[in-house]
Amino acid sequence: MNEMVLKFPAKSENEVFARNAVAAFALPLNPSLSELSDVKTAVSEAVTNCIVHGYRGGEGWITVTCRTDGVRLEVEISDEGRGIRDIKKALEPFYTTLPSEERSGMGFTIMQTFMTEFSVESTEGAGTKVRMCKDFTVKAERNVG
Ligand code: ATP
Ligand code: MG
Repeated sequence: MNEMVLKFPAKSENEVFARNAVAAFALPLNPSLSELSDVKTAVSEAVTNCIVHGYRGGEGWITVTCRTDGVRLEVEISDEGRGIRDIKKALEPFYTTLPSEERSGMGFTIMQTFMTEFSVESTEGAGTKVRMCKDFTVKAERNVG
């Protein structure tokens, strides 16, 4: 069992920091490059959502919590921003509340596709928490040699 918590301001440069920090945390699980890339993409999408939707470009904090038992990686990404009124609708592919900013409405769909488990909790005016898990395939002797 290992765990870490990161808390950082909702600035766009921290999206790169967050996805690489989670990838670094996941390295002892011996992920393949494609598994690692899936996790990084999902984390990017969730953090970007906190910045552009949760805080609408304004100030606020984002918290990323990671846990692992050595096989499964669990990542929780949360903000204390505006929240989501209709989660069911927000989860539909191509649904976006910011079409004018060239959002395609695919972030949640990408998270669901790339991760083993995905769920979202949100309260309007209070914030949003995304929880995702990824099961890494067990690879024999990847580190040998
Ligand atoms: P894309 O991710 O393709 O750039 P998008 O961000 O609009 O577009 P999703 O990531 O799928 O698409 O999110 C769908 C909708 O859910 C958003 O348009 C927004 O209304 C809402 N949403 C998502 N994350 C949050 C959040 N952290 N806080 C508030 N609203 C959110
Ligand atoms: Mg998005």
